[in-house]
Amino acid sequence: MTTRKELKRYNMANDDLCTLCSNPDSIEHTFLNCHNSMYFYNLTLRCFNGMHNIEIDLSGDQFVCYMFMENGSLSNLTPLQKCRLDILLVYQKQYICNCEVLEKNLNLDEFTNKIFLQWKLENYSTL
Ligand SMILES: [Zn+2]
Repeated sequence: MTTRKELKRYNMANDDLCTLCSNPDSIEHTFLNCHNSMYFYNLTLRCFNGMHNIEIDLSGDQFVCYMFMENGSLSNLTPLQKCRLDILLVYQKQYICNCEVLEKNLNLDEFTNKIFLQWKLENYSTL
């Protein structure tokens, strides 16, 4: 994944500032410290919870590395919900980095459309 820090290092950007909040950008900033990224994580997780009528709550660290940790609230997920959450968390990171590189605003409608399409593809791939 690429942030503005890497783009600046390779002279592909004029500055290394996060396009979402104007603070110095890095992987750590994007995934742990950027308040706009964190807001987007939580917004998409609330949508996920609402769609599946569940109540998952992840901290900032858990958003980044939840696949490697035990979380009691995840043990109640069905295999389909777990698969969808895996996809959601991977695509969140990819979408946020892409928006930063392309200097686009985070757009919940655009993101959810991409997620719904990916979930459909995952369903077909398991048939
Ligand atoms: Zn930021």
